[in-house]
Amino acid sequence: MKVVMTRTTDVYVGLNERAYFANRNKADLFVSYHLNAATATAYGYEDFTYPTQNKATINSRNIYHGAILPALRALQQFNRGKKVANFAVLRETNMPAYLIELGFITNASEYNTIVGQTNFELLAQTHASAIKQALANLGKPNGTVCVDPGHGGRDPGAVSRGYTEAAYVLRFTLRIREILQGAKPIAPIKDKKEAVTMLNSTGRKEIRELLKKARAAGIIDAKYHTDDKIAKYNDIQLLSYQAAVVNREFK
Ligand SMILES: [Zn+2]
Repeated sequence: MKVVMTRTTDVYVGLNERAYFANRNKADLFVSYHLNAATATAYGYEDFTYPTQNKATINSRNIYHGAILPALRALQQFNRGKKVANFAVLRETNMPAYLIELGFITNASEYNTIVGQTNFELLAQTHASAIKQALANLGKPNGTVCVDPGHGGRDPGAVSRGYTEAAYVLRFTLRIREILQGAKPIAPIKDKKEAVTMLNSTGRKEIRELLKKARAAGIIDAKYHTDDKIAKYNDIQLLSYQAAVVNREFK
């Protein structure tokens, strides 16, 4: 397998330029990586294809999406699903193309999940494996993938807590390339610092009860916020979901 990248340093590359680069390199697959930004309470993973897609794109994207599910479950990350959008990099590319939104760095809980070193390697391994599976599905197991770290240079992308999307996706895609080129996966590194404690036991209990009430009232997703998950949410997740409930109630 050959891996080409639209940028390997912190430089600005235009959207059309990224697509034309993939076309010139005759890539068999194009994958653009991003972090999302919105209100403090938005959360979840999602991926995109262009609205009009051929069979190869639909099928290989289903394979890619399916390959991500175990990681979403492991990280208790919400799946916003398979979406379509008229993004330039999806429109101007000649090959099956996906745009991946790994999660919202504007959400404290998701920021910790994604940006923390503990999960970085797991996510990189997961997406490297998804690329391999998608290429195999396209009948091009030894083909060329164009990996696109979004933003860069004068365009930092989403910024949260001083961290930029451009820096993250560059580090992330460089690691994906290493793994695809045969680097040994490393065991995910455990964060040295202890879990952040922000609530006392009464506070935790109260928020868990609030989430169950909100679930019964249809304010939060019953399929996602199961009893088992609510019991395991850490303090950051509890506060974040509490804020989501409050936010929805005030709308
Ligand atoms: Zn982006």
